[in-house]
Formats: sequence, C-alpha cells, structure tokens
Amino acid sequence: LERTLSIVKPDAVEKNHTGAIIARLEQEGFIVRAMKRVHLTRAEAEGFYAEHRGRGFFDELCSFMSRSPIVIMALEREDAIAKYREVIGATNPANAAEGTIRKLYAASVGENAVHGSDKPESAAREIAYFFAGYEVS
Ligand code: ATP
Repeated sequence: LERTLSIVKPDAVEKNHTGAIIARLEQEGFIVRAMKRVHLTRAEAEGFYAEHRGRGFFDELCSFMSRSPIVIMALEREDAIAKYREVIGATNPANAAEGTIRKLYAASVGENAVHGSDKPESAAREIAYFFAGYEVS
C-alpha cells in the first residue's frame, strides 16, 4: 500500500469542515495512519513549501498556511497519491470536478482547503517533515 501526506488547510479548519473531509477520505478507502492538529510558525510553513520558494505566490502561501491551525494526516491506500488527488480535485477550485473536496469546500486557488503529496518521494519527505517514525502506525 502507498502513503500520502494530507493537510486540511486553515480555511477548511476555520469553517469546521475538518470532520466532513476526514469522513469523505475514509469513505474513499483511506486509512489514517497518523494525525495531528498544529498551528505552524511561518518558518515551519516555509520549510514545508521550500520547493516553491521564489515563486510569485510563495509569501501568500506561507502566510496563509501559518495563519491558523491545520490538521495533518498520513494516509494509506492502494494507489493513495493518485486517488487522493482525484478525490480533492484541481488546485484551482474553479476547475475542480463536481463532488471533489475542493469543489465542495474551497474558495480560491490560494485558499483551496487541502494539500496532497504529488509523488512518492514528496510523500516520504512530507510525512517525515511532520511525523516522527513512532507516530505513524
Ligand atoms: P498541493 O501541493 O497543495 O496539493 P498542488 O500540487 O495542486 O497543491 P502546486 O502548484 O504544487 O499545487 O501549488 C501548491 C499550493 O500553492 C497550492 O495548493 C495553492 O494553495 C498554492 N498556489 C498555487 N498556485 C497559486 C497561485 N497562483 N496563487 C496563490 N496560491 C497558489
């Protein structure tokens, strides 16, 4: 089975959509292997998104991700990375398919409700960024 790193972003936590999003992911066959709610510092957000440093939206993205708490999960499923990206929908909710998490809960490309890893190497790095080995079971 494959793992992916999932984040319920500040906008979705603020609107109390955390439970609905986790319920949907469980319905889609994902197993929660680790989970926590944290309020990132700006430096922690910058470290997580280091690969986007230098892009036009980097400052906005890191301010947003550190403005209020997020819920982080390590999820497991067959074909988890691709399946998760299918369930959350396009990065810009305006382009997201009907019924996807971003179509249902996201307001804009900047505040798009959830994050998911884009490939296995990213998933491994991202899970290790937020969870110690003993926290993932
Ligand atoms: P994620 O990594 O969160 O799953 P993604 O892989 O679909 O998103 P990326 O292109 O990697 O999208 O961008 C990472 C995040 O940066 C996006 O989820 C979004 O929150 C933010 N972002 C991307 N493009 C823009 C933009 N033009 N303006 C503001 N924020 C943006």
